[in-house]
Amino acid sequence: AEARARREELEKRFAGLSFPTRLFIDGRYVDAASGATLDRISPRNGKLIAKVAAGDEEDIDRAVAAARRAFESGRWSGLHPRERRKVLQRLARLVEEHAEELALLESVDMGKPFTDALAVDIRVTVQCLDFYAEAVDKLYDEVAPTGPDVLATITREPVGVVGAVVPWNFPLMLATWKIAPALATGNAVVVKPAEQSPLTALRFAELAAEAGVPDGILNVVPGFGPTAGAALGRHPDVDVLTFTGSGEVGRLFMRYSAESNLKQVSLELGGKSPQVVLPDAPDLKVVAKAIATGIYFNQGEVCSAGSRLLVHRDIKDELLELVLEESRRIVVGDPLDPRTGVGALVEEKHLDRVLGYVHGAIEEGAERLLGGNRILEETGGYYMEPTVFDRVTPGMRIAREEVFGPVLAVLTFDDLDEAVRIANGTDYGLAAAVWTRDLSTAHRMARAIRAGTVWVNCYDDSDITVPFGGYAQSGFGRDKSLHALEKYTQLKSTWIKL
Ligand code: NAD
Repeated sequence: AEARARREELEKRFAGLSFPTRLFIDGRYVDAASGATLDRISPRNGKLIAKVAAGDEEDIDRAVAAARRAFESGRWSGLHPRERRKVLQRLARLVEEHAEELALLESVDMGKPFTDALAVDIRVTVQCLDFYAEAVDKLYDEVAPTGPDVLATITREPVGVVGAVVPWNFPLMLATWKIAPALATGNAVVVKPAEQSPLTALRFAELAAEAGVPDGILNVVPGFGPTAGAALGRHPDVDVLTFTGSGEVGRLFMRYSAESNLKQVSLELGGKSPQVVLPDAPDLKVVAKAIATGIYFNQGEVCSAGSRLLVHRDIKDELLELVLEESRRIVVGDPLDPRTGVGALVEEKHLDRVLGYVHGAIEEGAERLLGGNRILEETGGYYMEPTVFDRVTPGMRIAREEVFGPVLAVLTFDDLDEAVRIANGTDYGLAAAVWTRDLSTAHRMARAIRAGTVWVNCYDDSDITVPFGGYAQSGFGRDKSLHALEKYTQLKSTWIKL
């Protein structure tokens, strides 16, 4: 009864919520030049929640021009870093004050559990803003060790106009991973949120203005990828394009850059991250829990989802039983229900794609131990059961391609070399985990696995102080930590003859 009451309360709150649905350009909400809109269908029940202005090339032009003007004016880049810090800290406090509202928008817009949106997405957004705000006035430049008759300084300057194209799985959080370091270092930004999840970024823009971010310094232009996204990627006056999304679209951004102005590109792409479990792993119950969370968190719509379980033959049966137990325990349901662990997949097309992988795995000879079906269809929403496949071999599609849903592929190995070979045997290299009590094995494996993040005896641990990004076709460039600042600044060498 308590859960139902909470769900109804949130539902009512959402119904009474007014939120911006137009493009945010130069400090104002405006319609798309073409007048076009896109329908926001909530994945929790398939119902229309808003019509959002859909920008295209003309709107991106307007936004980039506003960003350029604002950048050149020096109203932001020319501020004392301390003043930029204060604005970003005010923004962090405003996001904190509006945490429930933003979490509610996120949850209804893209289907993740409200409790996760609040505890993860919005909390991390606030942390991220605070981290870069605090960093702003503590960054020093360098003096090179040249000879005595010259002074050579190496200074960091903002790049200018940053384009950020982001996906729908952690809409506001991933946008902020880019916006916060870019603003901290004095740039102007144009964000193109995913067409599936534009609501929080639009509301965030209003909070940024309230915090004191000058007009034109932060612009948000929702729209479709091939129109608005491509226009930003191809724009001759964008200096840096930072992208998070699929490998397929990441490739396009490299091409857009080559065919326009050689803007710098950074790509945070997908993964097929392995969880390698050795016979001397710590408590298998703990491991099983981490494996379940690693694949089902956020409906499996996580770039670093632990979608491959690589388990040593000696402990396979025992571990698999525990993983199945954990999987059965997870509640799939309405994102607004506080008991829900797995919400709705972002859209019907995506659910069909994930189900396509399930069918493909069966055809290729994998053994379905659990799930694999759409459920709760009567709600009109896009729900799917936690799914586990055994007898997966490294060549199967389900072992190589990113499913981006609650689907775990189980592979077995007999020795460490084989484990490393399988772990490294995909095109990706985003993340991996190793479970072992042996210190040497842990270090050896951490070195041998080619991935941007390796967890030992944990999964999904993260902190804003630690960089995140991929090896191989998981992309290049890092979000988070002070290293992210490198993407949004360029080095100037100044020689002064004495
Ligand atoms: P996507 O690549 O389809 O879309 C991402 C963004 O690109 C959206 O804003 C979209 O509108 C835009 N886009 C689409 N087609 C475009 C085109 N032709 N030209 C320009 N822009 C275009 O990805 P998605 O389905 O939204 O997100 C899921 C993907 O994101 C997964 O592959 C996931 O692994 C990846 N991801 C990576 C990270 C990371 O940090 N490495 C984090 C989250 C998600």
